[in-house]
Amino acid sequence: MQERRKPMSFFTWVEMETPDGKKRLRQCLLCGMQVSNATQHLRKHFPGTFTCPYCHMTMKRRYELRQHVITKHPEVAQQT
Ligand SMILES: [Zn+2]
Ligand SMILES: [Zn+2]
Repeated sequence: MQERRKPMSFFTWVEMETPDGKKRLRQCLLCGMQVSNATQHLRKHFPGTFTCPYCHMTMKRRYELRQHVITKHPEVAQQT
């Protein structure tokens, strides 16, 4: 039942018009910056930690955050 990969929970997807056509980028929900490397960008905000953007719970590991979002916020975890 969990075949689909979950999106990065700190980010929303935005579509950008470029000369090559539409491009999907991640937009940081914390600072609004559009980034290509989400994991790297998050380190700037939370060095060493991962914080849930929906309830602000802090975890030490990325997979813990992912599991947290999937279990606690299934409706947002399934968004693309
Ligand atoms: Zn940011
Ligand atoms: Zn949460």
